[in-house]
Amino acid sequence: MRVSVATAGGTFSSLFTVVASGIQAGSGPSVVQTYQVAMSGLNNLYKRLSASGARIISVSPAGEESPAVPVAASSAPAPQAVTSSPAPKKKPHANVPVNTYKPKTPFLGTVTENYSLVEEGGIGRVQHITFDLSGGDPQLQYVEGQSIGIIPEGEDANGKPHKLRLYSIASTRHGDNYQDNTVSLCVRQLEYKNEAGEQIYGVCSTYLCDIEPGSKVKITGPVGKEMLLPNDEDANIIMLATGTGIAPMRTYIRRMFEPRERDANGWTFRGKAWLFMGAPKTGNLLYDADFLHYEKEFPDNFRYTKAISREQQNAKGGRMYIQDRVLEHADEIFAMIENPKTHVYMCGLRGMEPGIDEAMTAAAAAKGLDWSELRPQLKKADRWHVETY
Ligand SMILES: Cc1cc2nc3c(=O)[nH]c(=O)nc-3n(C[C@H](O)[C@H](O)[C@H](O)COP(=O)(O)OP(=O)(O)OC[C@H]3O[C@@H](n4cnc5c(N)ncnc54)[C@H](O)[C@@H]3O)c2cc1C
Repeated sequence: MRVSVATAGGTFSSLFTVVASGIQAGSGPSVVQTYQVAMSGLNNLYKRLSASGARIISVSPAGEESPAVPVAASSAPAPQAVTSSPAPKKKPHANVPVNTYKPKTPFLGTVTENYSLVEEGGIGRVQHITFDLSGGDPQLQYVEGQSIGIIPEGEDANGKPHKLRLYSIASTRHGDNYQDNTVSLCVRQLEYKNEAGEQIYGVCSTYLCDIEPGSKVKITGPVGKEMLLPNDEDANIIMLATGTGIAPMRTYIRRMFEPRERDANGWTFRGKAWLFMGAPKTGNLLYDADFLHYEKEFPDNFRYTKAISREQQNAKGGRMYIQDRVLEHADEIFAMIENPKTHVYMCGLRGMEPGIDEAMTAAAAAKGLDWSELRPQLKKADRWHVETY
C-alpha cells in the first residue's frame, strides 16, 4: 500500500484530502472514495479505513493539486509530527506565467517557419508554425501545456477588429531551436460547407496556415493551467489526442525524451508515457516519425498506439477510433490509473469526449468500477486533464 503525505506544514484544523480505494458496503466492487478531514481527524480516518480493508491512495492538503511524496502506509507520520508554524501555503503552479500579453497590447511575433504536417494521402491542411518571441519586454515565456492567443489581421463582418483565437502550444518552453525565444503551433485550417453549400474557411486558421515567414503576428497570453505536467519525474502520463490535440502531447514528449530538452530541463522523466493518437488517415498522424523515433529509443518509457479510422477496423468491423483503442487496452490503462502517480491528458475536438467517456465507462465497469464516480475524483486529484475545443 502506498500513501502520499503532505510535506508542507499545517495546523490541526487544516483540511486534508484523503483518497482511498476499498470495498463497497455489501461486498460490492472496489470504489475510489475521497474524504476531506481536518488534520486532527486524520488518525481516526486512517484507522477506520485500515479496519475496513481500504487502500489509501493519497493524502494531500485540501486544494493542493499535485500528489505529494509517496511513502509506505505503515510509515505515514502521525498528524502530530507536522510543525506548528506552517510555511505559507503556495498554490500549485503559482509560478506559471499567464497573460503576459493581453489583447489590447499584444506581442508582435515574427513568423520564422510554416510547414505542412500532413503527409501524402492525408486529409486537409495542418501547419506547424513557429514565431520568434525575442525582443519582448517582458519576454513572453510559457510552459508545456499552455496556449497562446492569436489575433488575425483584418475586421469581422461588423467592421470590428477580429477577436483572438486560442491555440495549444506545440513546442516546449525551450522552443524547437532550444534557444528559449520561440513558440510553435500546430494549426488545422477550418473548412466546411455552409447551409447554402458554399465552401467556408475559418478566419484565423486560414490566416495562420497561409502566413509567410517574416510576417508579424499579434500574440497574447500565455494562458491555461489545466494541461500542465506534474513535476514528478516518476509520474506516468497517458495521452489521448485526436488531430491538432497532439500539440500539447508533442511538448510533453519532447520534454521527456528529446536529449537536448532533457539536458536543458534538469528534469529526467523516468515514468511511463503512453500516447493514443487518433487520425483519419496515416498521412494525418502528425509528428508520427518523431514519436516512432522516441518509441525506439525509449522502449521502456514510451508507448505509441494509433487509431486510424479510415484505414483500420475495430473489433466489431467498424472504423477504428481512439476510444476503440482505449477499450482494447482497458486493463492496462486502469492498472495504470490505480497508481496515484498516473495522470491522463485528453486534447482535440470536443466531439472526442463522449466516445472516450463511453469507453472509460465500459472499461471501468469491467473492473467493477463506476467511471461516473471515478472521473470527478481523478479530476479533483488533478490527475484527469481535458482541453477540447
Ligand atoms: C484552448 C484551445 C486550444 C486550441 N488549440 C488549437 C490548436 O492547437 N490547433 C488548432 O488548429 N485549433 C485549436 N483551437 C481552435 C482555434 O481556437 C479556432 O477555434 C480554430 O482555428 C477556428 O478558428 P477560425 O478563426 O479559423 O474559424 P472561425 O472563422 O472563427 O469559424 C469558426 C466558426 O465556424 C462555424 N463552424 C465551424 N465548423 C462548422 C461546420 N462544420 N458547420 C457549420 N459551421 C461551422 C462555427 O460557428 C464556429 O464558431 C483551440 C481552441 C481552444 C479553445
